[in-house]
Amino acid sequence: MPGGVNSPVRAFKAVGGNPLFIDRAEGSKIYDADGNEYIDYVCSWGPIIFGHNNAAIRDAATIAAQKGMSFGAPTEAEVKLAEKIISYVPSVEMVRMVNSGTEAVMSALRLARAYTGRQKVIKFEGCYHGHADSMLVKAGSGALTLCEPDSAGVSENITQDTLVASYNDLASVEELLKKKNIACVIVEPVAANMGVVLPKEGFLKGLKELCGTYGTLLIFDEVITGFRLCKGGAQEYYGVLADIVTYGKIIGGGMPLGAYGGKKEIMELVAPSGPVYQAGTLSGNPIAMAAGLAQLEALEQQDIYAHIDKLCEKLAKGLLEIAQNCGIKSCVNRIGSLCSLFFGIENAYDYKSVKKADTELYAKYFRGMLDENVYLAPSQFEAMFISYAHTEKDIDKTLESAEKIIEQVV
Ligand SMILES: *Cc1c(COP(=O)(O)O)cnc(C)c1O
Repeated sequence: MPGGVNSPVRAFKAVGGNPLFIDRAEGSKIYDADGNEYIDYVCSWGPIIFGHNNAAIRDAATIAAQKGMSFGAPTEAEVKLAEKIISYVPSVEMVRMVNSGTEAVMSALRLARAYTGRQKVIKFEGCYHGHADSMLVKAGSGALTLCEPDSAGVSENITQDTLVASYNDLASVEELLKKKNIACVIVEPVAANMGVVLPKEGFLKGLKELCGTYGTLLIFDEVITGFRLCKGGAQEYYGVLADIVTYGKIIGGGMPLGAYGGKKEIMELVAPSGPVYQAGTLSGNPIAMAAGLAQLEALEQQDIYAHIDKLCEKLAKGLLEIAQNCGIKSCVNRIGSLCSLFFGIENAYDYKSVKKADTELYAKYFRGMLDENVYLAPSQFEAMFISYAHTEKDIDKTLESAEKIIEQVV
């Protein structure tokens, strides 16, 4: 396997060393193949909101598996999951299941182009939307409007239709909207793939207004925020509704699952109702449906958000205090159960500001924390995730370790 992994960030390239090979996980802990136990703050990059190996989710998946792995035909579980999503998210009247966040985004962009009859899309520097060609772009030097491929093998013809704006900078969006006919603006309502970067007050509302003015659709990529910030995701949290929403990560409870949805008027353009072709042999897989549905249903039985919010707040405050007491320029961005500690910068509000972070110091900190049996994201530019299975004790132990390690590595 290239780099020994099936997804690049797992390889520890940004922090050095060899990745842990995981054998199993339980609650807030993961266990590697050598039997070492770690407090886990990766949580499979977000999906694990109830903690690892949650009985209700595991049992639902197991029962589904016993009835067959896949049918390639409709099942009741798909209807139930669709209804559940729609009941949580007011902007979603219709939904289509896919297998990953990448697929959800790719399909949402196609749909937005079809609905508006326009070609170009705007994304934000530092936001990640999966590995579809049109999203693997970076701003070229000079004018904001010129984009370059950000991966080998991506056609320049495709990236020409993607324009890049600066996160938290409405003026940069309007400048592009004025110049071109834009099909959609896609945004992570809380950016979590350049480290956690929060939308400034009024940013999301402003995007919604600008999109309204220019007849452009607003896509919220809620692959991380959906069901993690609260049941209705960032839209409920910030009180701003998008035209199309994409899901991934959390929605499958750990199974490969993505979805996109929106108003009926827009979604009805998708085949077979409409002319926008999008399909998937394994889409709506019964085991993924069962796991996803069990997790979403569990959100009605247990109010997990107060717990994960409180623990994450304690973690974030503690980490910042430790770093500052050690005399390191640093900042922490947190919302709900996700946070990032940035070394070397005092403010992280867009891509340019986070790029100045001290990644070497983070790498040392990461390796030190791993020695302390705390498993952090192997990159400065990823989030830490808390699950409902994390405890005060986990946070205390993590902060104790952080105090020791940060003192050592500065
Ligand atoms: C992870 C991620 C994706 C891509 O999802 P995959 O399931 O890895 O394809 C898209 N958007 C956001 C915001 C993500 O965090």
